[in-house]
Amino acid sequence: MKYYSLNNPDHQVSFKEAVIAGLAPDKGLYFPCEIPQLERSFFEQIEHLDNKEIAYRVIKSFIGDEIRKDELLAIINETLCFDFPTAKVVDDIYALELYHGPTLAFKDVGARFMSRCLRYFTRDSSEKIKVLVATSGDTGGAVANGFLGVEGVDVIILYPSGKVSSIQEQQLATLGQNIKAIEVNGSFDDCQDMVKQAFLDAGLKDQNLTSANSINVARWLPQMFYYFFMYKALKIEAKPITVSVPSGNFGNICAGLMALKMGLPIAHFVASTNVNDTVPRYLDTLEYKPQQTVETLSNAMDVSNPSNFVRILELFDRSGIKLREMLTAYSFSDLDTLAIIDEVNTLHSYLMDPHGAVGFLGLRKYLSEVSDDEIGVFLETAHPIKFPESIENKLGILIPTPPQVAALSGKDKITSKISTYDELKELLKL
Ligand SMILES: *Cc1c(COP(=O)(O)O)cnc(C)c1O
Repeated sequence: MKYYSLNNPDHQVSFKEAVIAGLAPDKGLYFPCEIPQLERSFFEQIEHLDNKEIAYRVIKSFIGDEIRKDELLAIINETLCFDFPTAKVVDDIYALELYHGPTLAFKDVGARFMSRCLRYFTRDSSEKIKVLVATSGDTGGAVANGFLGVEGVDVIILYPSGKVSSIQEQQLATLGQNIKAIEVNGSFDDCQDMVKQAFLDAGLKDQNLTSANSINVARWLPQMFYYFFMYKALKIEAKPITVSVPSGNFGNICAGLMALKMGLPIAHFVASTNVNDTVPRYLDTLEYKPQQTVETLSNAMDVSNPSNFVRILELFDRSGIKLREMLTAYSFSDLDTLAIIDEVNTLHSYLMDPHGAVGFLGLRKYLSEVSDDEIGVFLETAHPIKFPESIENKLGILIPTPPQVAALSGKDKITSKISTYDELKELLKL
């Protein structure tokens, strides 16, 4: 498969080149030249296929012959080392739980898949690769965990100081080895801007920098798997399915929309955001106007200029009007979020994290506006234990500790603190 830069359709590269480069030289995001179509028989038999087989059939055309089949199967095998259950929460509303991986958030899938692709593509090279990544919370832990101990790769993680939860910080900043954590005085958007600047900096050309943000095709595309797993679980209901995705950088939902374009039968998508509502406003007005990022309880979605939105538009011929037919977007406040966590926990004994809760709110709102005969799924993108600040402290709900968290206790963070791009540049040259 070839990939083109969204800034210039004539600039085309292989999957390998897109994975190693991250971003195109003209700053464009890479996008596949074709959208593979899955056969009807695949959907007819999907309930008889295991997750690894589904994942292989979904991703193989995006990679072509660039990774040997047995190697690709091994990568998928290592990536999908945990479950993706669909839980019934109430009546026609289901949660697709994506948080059973090593860092308790859905980003484990993309990070694991990408780290293993990179290891495969650089296995014969003597030069070290530096993976540079900005995180608003969950990416850092997932990437750190996915790359820990991988030979030939150093990982540099930028996160907004004081703006990630304490568990998130422990997951990304205590590992050491080939993982370096950097605290930035600023917002996630500031971190993301620094990363973008580093990629364009001629003075860093010899550093072999690559990105592990969701802009990287090897992180973005495997997120399609979730939607197929969900369909496999809910097909038996034989009803139209609406999916609500709590969205920040819009990589996850963009993968869902890609799955749709490959033939996955989903009736409608809802993008649910916190008060960082650039996309809901865009769908109302068709004007794209990012504002200052606001901090919220669902901090992994504190993004005001979502980098994957251009890919979503590309999927719909760059037409906001076409996009509106398939995608509805709503935004919700922290107060709404806390209230719904409490309500759903009290009435239905299902404990959501703040991100999943935003997804639930968007789903419920959309379903209340359409005909009855639909079912809805919201993506539960993180385990509630990652957000004790809101759930335990604000709501007084106690969360049982999963083993992944118990393993972190007592570890000290090892970070560098920076405020400017120049300080980052110095660190990268070390
Ligand atoms: C990253 C993240 C999101 C947002 O996903 P995007 O692909 O950036 O839209 C939602 N929830 C959690 C828990 C996350 O970590």
